[in-house]
Amino acid sequence: MKVPFLDLKAHHAPLIDKFDRAIREVIESSAFAGGPFVERFEEEFAAYCGSEYAIGVGNGTDALWLTLLALGIGPGDEVITVPNTFFATVEAITYCRAQPVFVDVDENTFTMDPAELEKRLTARTKAIIPVHLFGQPADMDTILEFARAHGLFVIEDAAQAHGAEYKGRKAGTLGDAGCFSFYPGKNLGAFGEAGAIVTNDAELREKIQVLRDHGQARKYYHTLLGWNCRMDGIQAAILSIKLGHLEEANRLRRERALQYKQAFAGIEGVATPFEADYARHVYHVYAIRVQERDEVRPFLEEKGIGCGVHYPIPIHLQEACRSLGYAEGSFPVAENLAEEFLSLPMFPELTEEQTEYVARCVNEVVGVEALV
Ligand SMILES: *Cc1c(COP(=O)(O)O)cnc(C)c1O
Repeated sequence: MKVPFLDLKAHHAPLIDKFDRAIREVIESSAFAGGPFVERFEEEFAAYCGSEYAIGVGNGTDALWLTLLALGIGPGDEVITVPNTFFATVEAITYCRAQPVFVDVDENTFTMDPAELEKRLTARTKAIIPVHLFGQPADMDTILEFARAHGLFVIEDAAQAHGAEYKGRKAGTLGDAGCFSFYPGKNLGAFGEAGAIVTNDAELREKIQVLRDHGQARKYYHTLLGWNCRMDGIQAAILSIKLGHLEEANRLRRERALQYKQAFAGIEGVATPFEADYARHVYHVYAIRVQERDEVRPFLEEKGIGCGVHYPIPIHLQEACRSLGYAEGSFPVAENLAEEFLSLPMFPELTEEQTEYVARCVNEVVGVEALV
């Protein structure tokens, strides 16, 4: 049996006619860069999240970078985040000429450990970026309380958490701003690159709107130095359609996650993801923890199963971050996770049969490993 890691074709197939019509509408209106399709999607996405505003931008990295810029983060400032995230979180901080500072993550949720924040706080700390890794929100109340006590901004990296909930509220709406990516493989994905910021702060919204469009308050009147970070009309039109299917897609992901959990119950050597009491996890990634991951993975691939590793090297140990000066052993939880994580196939169209096959193959190889 073949089980791909992700199957976007299966996800899009039933919607092809709608996509064709939407793209034709954009062509007929010539609203390709920004414009009415983007505005409509911004309204829809803000309403879905339960936020006042959404601002469409070019991608998730833009979303993080422009939010930091708009909040006035710059040279000499420090921004605290986690080392087990996609690299963009740290690039965004660095591109504001601020200093990324890491704290380790919680062993169970894989998200920011708020108990570590105090140790890394300095007079230069300006903001915290928790990452809702794999679709599970970080421990936001504790993080927000710490931020309030010390006058820090909280920017949520919700690039993997579309529709995830923290105590019934949507991920991305808890801090000062939430940043989303609509990279094709994300839970809500465009037909190329796109991203958005959600916020309840009207002033922040306006500043990001200006920054994403070359700092223009109106055409050819530049009040700020910005960049070109607009969202495409075609991406917005596609996202409006796909947003209507996000809840169902997340529900199906949760169903498959439950099936995996049951299949691995009692299997020594496989640790399944944990859903915090406060959370509605949306399983952007379904990562188990296994010893000897680098032997398990090729075995599964031989069996026709697509796997991933998110991520093999924590950011503080990446070559590009050598100048930050972190040594191996700085963040033992994140480093250990990087060695043990194995992401299994997870997408809404994954069938019950495929899930069962994947679980059976994992149990087979982990069982064998245990005997060696
Ligand atoms: C995908 C992702 C981003 C970046 O989004 P892009 O749209 O690819 O620029 C940032 N942070 C996290 C955690 C991500 O998964």
